[in-house]
Amino acid sequence: AILKVHVRGKPLDENVNLAVLARRTPGFSGADIANMVNEAAILAARENRHNVSMAQFEASIDRVVAGPERKSRIISDREKEVVAYHETGHAMVAWRLPDTDPVHKISILPRGLALGYTMQLPMEDRYLMSKTELTHRIAVMLGGRVAEKIIFNEITTGAQNDIQQATEIARRMITEYGMSDLLGPLTLGHKQEQVFLGRDLMEERNYGDEVASIIDHEVHNLIDSCYKIAEEIITRHRWSMDRIAKALIERETIEGDELNRLFEKM
Ligand code: ZN
Repeated sequence: AILKVHVRGKPLDENVNLAVLARRTPGFSGADIANMVNEAAILAARENRHNVSMAQFEASIDRVVAGPERKSRIISDREKEVVAYHETGHAMVAWRLPDTDPVHKISILPRGLALGYTMQLPMEDRYLMSKTELTHRIAVMLGGRVAEKIIFNEITTGAQNDIQQATEIARRMITEYGMSDLLGPLTLGHKQEQVFLGRDLMEERNYGDEVASIIDHEVHNLIDSCYKIAEEIITRHRWSMDRIAKALIERETIEGDELNRLFEKM
């Protein structure tokens, strides 16, 4: 609905599908949407178009999500290869796990701070997530690191953000969503809304050392089992991985039907 407000008065190409745009912009604030629509209009003007088509919207969504493309950044062939396998790893795990959002695009063009990215397209706005879905989401996040390890027998700093996000979800599953069999449905830790305090001070512990060490243990176990899920998938499809990563190195960005065709042969 908010999209409708922002595109009002803008000349739109007939290929523009607002429902698809809405699905591609989950979690966007009103300001993000406004920003995205403006950016698309600027792109269209720059290309001397008299209206805004889906292509400009797609490009501006990528900009808002991941920062501007940085074509000037020089990446060595070796790095490109590592990034290609890393992104293929994410995409491959997402492709094989039924309880994850479908992969929409993979790219090894650097954006913002990222050297590459894999975009998943949520099928619907979600308010509830099951334990299985969260577990699979973590496995997808770890897919990049797992691919690096399996292909190059070496790991890089490229997985830092993935690992951070995975750990955050795992910790919340254990301490907030009561998803640990060992600890049961308990809220562990007491979050205070005191924005002016440092982050460390915001979380008040309401449990003892013994529980603290069980939490660490459970988070560790959970991450471990998600890692194994990703590892199993990537090992099983090791040869498809070469084919997909090579295509990605060649074309730099793969999306839509082309992406589906690559993965269908897996
Ligand atoms: Zn990654």
